[in-house]
Parts: sequence; structure tokens; C-alpha cells
Amino acid sequence: MKKLLLLLLLSLGLTSISYGGYLDDWPDDALCGWMDNPSPPAHIVAEVKKRGISCDSGVASKKTKTSTKEKTQESLSILPKDVEIFSTPDISQKTIEVVKEWYKIGANAWGRYGPIEVYIVGNKKEDAIKLEKDFCNRHIQLDKGWNKKYDCANEDHKIFTRYAEEGGAAVSTYRKAHLSYDFYTLTMSSSRPRPSEEDYKFVLLHEYFHIHQHAHISDKCSDDRRIPCERDKKSTGEYEKRPWFQEGGAEYRGHLLYSQNINNNNFLKNAMIRKLENSLSDYKQKYEMDLKGLTYKKGKNVAYDIGSWFIAYLIHHEGEEKHRVDFYNDLDELGFESSFNKNFGKSSDDYIKEFNEFITQPQWKVIEIIP
Ligand SMILES: [Zn+2]
Repeated sequence: MKKLLLLLLLSLGLTSISYGGYLDDWPDDALCGWMDNPSPPAHIVAEVKKRGISCDSGVASKKTKTSTKEKTQESLSILPKDVEIFSTPDISQKTIEVVKEWYKIGANAWGRYGPIEVYIVGNKKEDAIKLEKDFCNRHIQLDKGWNKKYDCANEDHKIFTRYAEEGGAAVSTYRKAHLSYDFYTLTMSSSRPRPSEEDYKFVLLHEYFHIHQHAHISDKCSDDRRIPCERDKKSTGEYEKRPWFQEGGAEYRGHLLYSQNINNNNFLKNAMIRKLENSLSDYKQKYEMDLKGLTYKKGKNVAYDIGSWFIAYLIHHEGEEKHRVDFYNDLDELGFESSFNKNFGKSSDDYIKEFNEFITQPQWKVIEIIP
């Protein structure tokens, strides 16, 4: 039940119109900072190619004809400069160290993306209000387009106070049509889960995988909800966001990387069995195995659980690089369905049909695919 509650609270803030040429103002070195990732976003790669620069350790130089050696990624020992941590006064140094350590584990496995602001929020509302004010002032300074009335916190837009009040964790993408300084926030609260719980580390990885997903999409969206958001369609397959692929990916990846880091495969296996036991009968009977029909309002937990199983099934058949690297590298240019087709060899509907046959087999057979 605790897990269910936790998943309920894991929410993803997404905001963001198709927008061309936003990279024009970026200095070469800023582009090269991104090229340091094991799988840099396709639009960044395209821009680097267009400019004819080559990147080495995040620094740009004009390309010469001699080929440069591929750089293997060094593990992070400290956080990159474009990752900043902000916390309320009641957050202990120990918690900050846990966040740093698991952030680095995520970045080393899935790539470095920035700028990122990590907010660690405690349980006191007054502290969270102060954090909101600091966030507001900081971004007024950083971006002429920042709208104090709508982008800063208010009664309807509780940026950090809702985490002091309700707990949970989230990633928000600040790639919006009216902003020029693009960044992400990763917010961790201090309840559901608490920093002392093991789940806290897994939740951080879940959220970090959302940054990996979003970093591969260049579209900026409007705050005007009447304008369809391409970013939502690319990341979830629909303008009206669907959790199955995006949340299933963050859930499964988070559990997988966590269990690899604690050298305990049982963590992953047990978590996946729990997901099956919690959600399979509802998926079959109540939702008639319509994975794409589940939304953030209808069958959300089932979408998270069965979506995780879909990603496990996908990775089992296609390999982990096809999902994490190839699919996301093609996503910006091709969109969700075409990238899916290209990389996984069939439509997402056909894949789900096969998956539905797989997931209804006896449990012992189903869990065989978990490493
Ligand atoms: Zn999520």
C-alpha cells in the first residue's frame, strides 16, 4: 500500500510549442557540454554537425580532417557545474550527500543533462515558501522572459509548498515558448518516501530517468493549454499524456539501476512481482488490457505497474540500448510512433498485443524475463 501511495504521488510536471532555431544563440562550448553525454540528444548532435565543430571533454574546436578519438565517459566524482542543489534548512547534510551520490549514479548510467536545479524540500511550509521566493528571484535574474505573475509560485501554482505538504517527488521541464533560459527542476520532498527510506534513492533515479527522456526532445510548449504540446505527444505518444511508456520506463529503469547498484537482483524481482500482483487483475478485468487507454486520472497505478512490465518485456527482446539510446535519439526527429516502429520493428499497438499475450501467462513464466 505504501508503494501504491508513493506511486500516486510521483507526478511529472510538464510544460512546454514547436520551436525552431532556439540553439542559434548557444555558444559552441554549451553544445559541447551536452556532447559529453553517452547519448546526446539528436537536435544537439545535428547542431554540432551543422556548425562543423568537434567536441572534446565538453570543449569545442573547429573540426579538422583527422578523426578525433571517441571519448569514453569518465565517472563523475563531483557534480557538474550546471547541477545545483538547493535545500530547506531542516535538510541534513547526510540527505544532501545521498542525493548527490544517487544523482551521480543516474548521470553516470544515463547521461549528464543540464542545467538542472535539484530542490530538496523539508516538511515546513514556511521554509518551502522561502525556497519558492528564492527560486522566483533567481529566475527573474536569469531570464528576461520570466513572468513573475505566472512562473513564480502562487495559490494555484505551488512549486515547492505542495511537496512540504503532500510529499512525493517530480521533475519539471522549463522549456517553454516564453522562456530563453531552459532548465529542469528535480524536486525531492521529505515524506513518501522519507530520506531515511531506501525508496528515496530509487525515487531519485525514477525522476532522473524522466530528465533523460525530456532531454531528447527540443520542442517548447506554451502555458496556454489550448495549444497542443508536441513535447507531450513525443514523450507519451498522445497530446493527452499517457503514463504507460514514460512512467513505465522511469519505474523499470529506476528499479533496475537501483538493484544493480546494491548488487541485489531480488530487489528488482520482488518489486516486479508486487506490481504484477497489485495490478494484473485490474488490468485484465477492469481495463480490458487497454494499456494506452490508461491515463493519469484513470488507472494510473495500473499504468505504472503494467507499463513497467511492458518496458521489461521490450528490453528483454530489444536490448537495453535500443530503448534508452536508439529510441530516444530518434524521438525528436521522428516522433513517438515512427521512432518506436524504426527501433522496435513494429507499431506500438502490435507490440502491446504481443505483450498482452505474454503478461497473461502463468506468473513463473512471466517473471523469467527479469534479470
Ligand atoms: Zn514519474
